Amino acid sequence: MTVTQEPAEPAAELAEQPYTYRRVELAEPDWRRFPGWRDVTEAQWRDAQWQRVHCVRNVKQLRALMGDLLEDRFYDDLVADQQELATMSMLLPPQMLNTMAPHAGTDPAKVTEAFYADPIRRYMLPVRSDRDPDWPSHPHSQRDSLHEAEMWVVEGLTHRYPTKVLAELLSTCPQYCGHCTRMDLVGNSTPQIDKHKLALKPVDRQDAMIDYLKRTPGVRDVVVSGGDVANVPWHQLEAFLMRLLDIETVRDIRLATKALAGLPQHWLQPKVVEGLARVGGTARRRGVNLAIHTHVNHAQSVTPLVAEATRAALDAGVRDVRNQGVLMRGVNDTPAQLLDLCFALQGEASILPYYFYMCDMIPNAEHWRLSVAEAQELQHAIMGYLPGYATPRIICDVPYVGKRWVHQLAEYDRERGISYWTKNYRTGIEHDDPEALRRRYPYYDPVSTLPAAGQQWWRENG
Ligand code: SF4
Repeated sequence: MTVTQEPAEPAAELAEQPYTYRRVELAEPDWRRFPGWRDVTEAQWRDAQWQRVHCVRNVKQLRALMGDLLEDRFYDDLVADQQELATMSMLLPPQMLNTMAPHAGTDPAKVTEAFYADPIRRYMLPVRSDRDPDWPSHPHSQRDSLHEAEMWVVEGLTHRYPTKVLAELLSTCPQYCGHCTRMDLVGNSTPQIDKHKLALKPVDRQDAMIDYLKRTPGVRDVVVSGGDVANVPWHQLEAFLMRLLDIETVRDIRLATKALAGLPQHWLQPKVVEGLARVGGTARRRGVNLAIHTHVNHAQSVTPLVAEATRAALDAGVRDVRNQGVLMRGVNDTPAQLLDLCFALQGEASILPYYFYMCDMIPNAEHWRLSVAEAQELQHAIMGYLPGYATPRIICDVPYVGKRWVHQLAEYDRERGISYWTKNYRTGIEHDDPEALRRRYPYYDPVSTLPAAGQQWWRENG
């Protein structure tokens, strides 16, 4: 018997790519759509001081800005969150607020819905109903979940990796992100969280840091952070960077600033651009790699002003501007959201899409966190679209281990959502620990992502 086969029709899904790239030119949303900024001029908008003075810090200021655009239920939800769950206080520069719900129109019902759904709003202006109702915190969540303060060699200087340190120069930022991993220290206290305070005066802390680095030539890479370095008065930051550049063993300096996206006006001020050129020139002459690391989580944040500030920094002699975003549910948890952001950064703003961190295990963050399995799927889904050097790695920052690519785990209990990780160096507090390199270190998925049996296990054992 002869069997003939009909020529197969190609299945529709075979013809389509999971993601289609289309160039999207950057646009600054029109701030005049908010009643409180109806008369704000472009010159005011570009003024860093105007931006700082007009930050939104509380519900009253948000109401004054929005007029009738938001329904009362949103404010009630916001107040409930601030009183019951928020780990960060509210601080929103106009630039950042203006990237929320940019096309929502003027119908209050539609604007309210758009605000609820908005990815920037979801992490910069969290409301009570966003949070996980059953497990707002993981049983293993901690205030300083990465144990940075335990690894301080002098106040604010974390020596976690053999060749690298993190220098926290201050504990404030021009904007406060709801998911901040340094919620223990950064920002103002909230009803839930009494913040720790840095005790030393900035000048004494900086002296102690410089002294440690001079005494420790094995450290070659200094991340200068906070908080956000945009809140360090420029002359102080420049002086500190020049002192770092005087230490011959320091070969990489990275400035951590979300303000490049949240308040690009800061990085466009002539005194900052000129100062950066002095620092960049010195770094270049001494063969030191000076870079800016910023923190952008969604394509909506990448506006022409962000691109302009980035180019100003590159022209001033900064070798690279790189993005370290945070992976969060409802913000950037789909391949399309991640790729749209990466193409906006790489193609339109000259920012290298370097890392996405998994959101850390801090209190009340479970609604943002993804499981390691979800992060692995996302990593797979974004491969192959961007240039290899601009394809970001998704990173799990495992307590007492450090950054690991999400596929590097040693073992994974999917039912209970516990992954186990190993490491190949001792942190600063493990020189006397013979087991440090043989131990397996756990990391925990959000309980709500687990199968029923796993959730039951946590109800009984959590
Ligand atoms: S800018 Fe960075 S340090 Fe500041 S609140 Fe946001 S995540 Fe925390």
